[in-house]
Amino acid sequence: MKKKIILSLFFLFLLFTVGAIMTMFYILRVTSRLDTLITLHQVEILRQDLVINVQTVQSHLYTIGTSFGKEMDIIVENVATLDNAIQKCSGCHHSPELTTKINAIKDLTEQYKEALSTFITTTAGKERVERLQLVGANIGNVILEKTQEMAFIANQKLNERTIAAIKDVTSSRIILIITLLLCFFIALTIAASLTRGITEPVSELLKATRKIKAGELGYTTSYRGKDEFKELLEAFNDMSITLNENNKRIMQHLNRLSGLYRITLSFHAITNVEDIYKEVSYGIAELIDIEQCGVILFDKGEELFAHRFPAFGLQPEQIAHIKIPQDNFIDIYRSSNRRPLILNDNTALFPLGELDKSLNVKNLMLIWIRQKGELLGAIRVANKKSGDFTEEDARILGILANNVSVAFENAKLYENLKKQMVELKETQEQLVQAAKLAAIGELASNIAHEINNPLTSILGYSELVKEETDITNIMRDIEVIEKESLRARDIVQQLLEFSRKRPLEIKEININDILSEVLALVSIPLKDSNINISKSYGDIPLIEGDPNQLKQVFLNIINNAIFAMQGGGTLTAKTRMGRDSVYIEICDTGKGIPKELLQRIFEPFFTTKQEKGTGLGLSISYKIIQSHKGRIDVESEEGRGSKFAVVLPVSVRQPF
Ligand code: ADP
Repeated sequence: MKKKIILSLFFLFLLFTVGAIMTMFYILRVTSRLDTLITLHQVEILRQDLVINVQTVQSHLYTIGTSFGKEMDIIVENVATLDNAIQKCSGCHHSPELTTKINAIKDLTEQYKEALSTFITTTAGKERVERLQLVGANIGNVILEKTQEMAFIANQKLNERTIAAIKDVTSSRIILIITLLLCFFIALTIAASLTRGITEPVSELLKATRKIKAGELGYTTSYRGKDEFKELLEAFNDMSITLNENNKRIMQHLNRLSGLYRITLSFHAITNVEDIYKEVSYGIAELIDIEQCGVILFDKGEELFAHRFPAFGLQPEQIAHIKIPQDNFIDIYRSSNRRPLILNDNTALFPLGELDKSLNVKNLMLIWIRQKGELLGAIRVANKKSGDFTEEDARILGILANNVSVAFENAKLYENLKKQMVELKETQEQLVQAAKLAAIGELASNIAHEINNPLTSILGYSELVKEETDITNIMRDIEVIEKESLRARDIVQQLLEFSRKRPLEIKEININDILSEVLALVSIPLKDSNINISKSYGDIPLIEGDPNQLKQVFLNIINNAIFAMQGGGTLTAKTRMGRDSVYIEICDTGKGIPKELLQRIFEPFFTTKQEKGTGLGLSISYKIIQSHKGRIDVESEEGRGSKFAVVLPVSVRQPF
């Protein structure tokens, strides 16, 4: 492009210079012709002067001696002027023809002067004077004739020179116009061509840049360009291709890393080693295009390194043969300088020799798995479909191998943890059993006390019945005996309920319906105690639960609320949906629970109702709700009331 610009400008300059030189040449020629014309005009002036002088002398000569005639000395003066004129004329440069004519006029002028001086000085003889006058006049006439001839020649020349000068002026004007027009059009063409030469590649570059910006990496322009642009566009195309290749490489790398991340992430959730084998071998097969992949691990029992199953591309019977004595395996590990072993197309070097051959192994890679510096085994990868194994493959799998060792460690820890958990559970159960025994001791005294009261009453009234004769009194005593017996039965029943392990009978239940049924059961005591009911049932889903056991829970809570509102009040029953559980809230406006007792209300046999309570209702309820994977929250304020919130998960099968 630079060369093109310089050449174009040089051509333009050359053209302009030629035009200018030609114009200058014509201008110089016109100038010289104009000089000649001026000279010719000056000559004409001189000739005119000469003619005028001669005519003046002639007229004086003809009128001399008359009343119109001038004095002689005026003629003399005019003759002198005439002499001056001819002297001036002959002083100029003329052609030989003109010089001859001027010389002739000069001679004639001399003769004229002489004739006139002879005429002026002659005084004798009128005839002679007249003859001399005639001679002078004749010479004067000849001078005039000659001068006219010269004027004719001069006019002719003047005409020729003028035409030539005009021609030159016209030519120079045409040349100038042509030069300017040519320069203009050529400059225009050059400018257009240069502009096209610059804008085309630039717009191509712009188009390609936009494509690349839009993500079309590797886009190359088909415009080949010339000169410097050719280089620029080629460099641009190279850049785009390199960019694309690098991008592909980065994407491939990223894909591998994300695959690696996905595999390692899955290790967190794996707790058994078989799943690790599977995840590693199938995960690597997704990362690298391979035919076989699996894990070789040390078998403590057999004291050798054995290939594990599941593995990618290998059947259990094929794997069964891959067993390497401990020493051999450690030798291979050491000979590889503890670096990944990459063997491409060199079956002779394959560690398993014949076995690798029988498995059709073309190229092989062993990535060592270490734990705390100790060799655990290796990841065995064979046959890369798209070529040889590379250091990059080894690097990626090296990272994975580190995670595999951590996953094995985790699996081992998890196994230990599981064992410990079982042991812990057993110990816990033993502890619970011990605590239960201790509690039974305490319970026994409580039960004895609880049952002793009604039994004492029953015994007392039985004695009375024996002695009574009046049937009315007997009936009254029997009623008391019956009431006390029922109380004893209630205590025993509730005790049984507490100690019995009744399995849950899980069904899909509507809590709103269950609550309504319970409220219907207590409608008479509610009315008797002057308690208003406020119900607010939310839009809740069906939940999984044992309807009878849950009914018992709600009945216990509501009975307690009724007992707390002996002077009347309001019982509110509300249900609502939480995030993933259902809330059943039962509020009363009763006497409330003192802060110091709030902690104890779920304890078995804790009651503030003396002989009217057993202290088992809430502890049984607590157990039931716990078996439903729910909880009971209690809020209470002395003198204002209490709120019992039962929280139940929608599904008892999901963790709560
Ligand atoms: P019981 O009702 O036989 O006493 P519970 O286990 O059902 O046994 O209740 C234990 C104790 O908790 C009650 O004696 C009472 O002191 C207290 N309690 C439970 N609910 C309420 C309530 N709504 N208002 C006040 N106190 C309550």
